[in-house]
Amino acid sequence: MPEIPFVETLVGNLAPRVAGRTIRAIQVRSPSLLKTVDPSLSTVQGETIRSVRRRGKLLLFDLTGSLVMIVHLMRDGRLTITPSRQRPTRDVALVLTLDGGEDLRLVEGGPKKRAGLYLRRTGEVEQTEPVAGLGVEPLSEDFTPEGLSAMLDQAAMQVKRFLGTQRYLAGIGNAYGDEILWEARLSPFASSPALRAEERSRLYAAIREVLARSVEEHRRHFGDALPMREPPVLLRAHRRAGEPCPRCGTPIAAVYYSEKETYYCPTCQTRGKVYADRRLSRLLK
Ligand SMILES: [Zn+2]
Repeated sequence: MPEIPFVETLVGNLAPRVAGRTIRAIQVRSPSLLKTVDPSLSTVQGETIRSVRRRGKLLLFDLTGSLVMIVHLMRDGRLTITPSRQRPTRDVALVLTLDGGEDLRLVEGGPKKRAGLYLRRTGEVEQTEPVAGLGVEPLSEDFTPEGLSAMLDQAAMQVKRFLGTQRYLAGIGNAYGDEILWEARLSPFASSPALRAEERSRLYAAIREVLARSVEEHRRHFGDALPMREPPVLLRAHRRAGEPCPRCGTPIAAVYYSEKETYYCPTCQTRGKVYADRRLSRLLK
């Protein structure tokens, strides 16, 4: 699922292409896409896209007429700019016809259609789904070591799960959760309130460093193109099971945990302990 580095790059590259353009027509082609009924979707017709911004993993399009269109890509949703004359393929879930002969399209491949489109009035964005309840932006000044520490105590959950919980930190998912914990040399399975002061500092620094660095790496990787796939080459631990840890050379281990795959270095992160893959053991029973 696209996380901060991907969405930040997408927003940055999308903005110059769509800002200032007027929406001529909107067509929702996937029945599950639209999550709101009021205001009606037809109200965006004739409005102009003023700006695009990111909040967590969401894209927010500020429109004239005091409207905000919010897109949640979920795992497989992607945005493209496509000539309007090109007939939409079956996996196109949304077509926004812009002036100038181009569409902004949301494409969702794969069998599970989970992407979401929300239309809100400007004043209600913060109080309603999907923005309401999102936690702090980890790259913002509002995110402090003290704030992190308080959240770790409050959360009382495994630290990998904590990192992916959007009401604490907005925009981190399974991939960058692994990357951050690898950078911090912390076990994904450690209980969040049990982290020592020095481990909390390491975690804070790793969250900032990994995300800031990854945004830069994504920008370099994609140039001015709209990102379509998370580049595996930019990940150090996630999805690298069996490959040598870039820090110590130990093969990266993987475990299916909390319904997600977690990747970690047993030497750097878990004092040599390799966790059993519970998914495999379940199958073997
Ligand atoms: Zn290592």
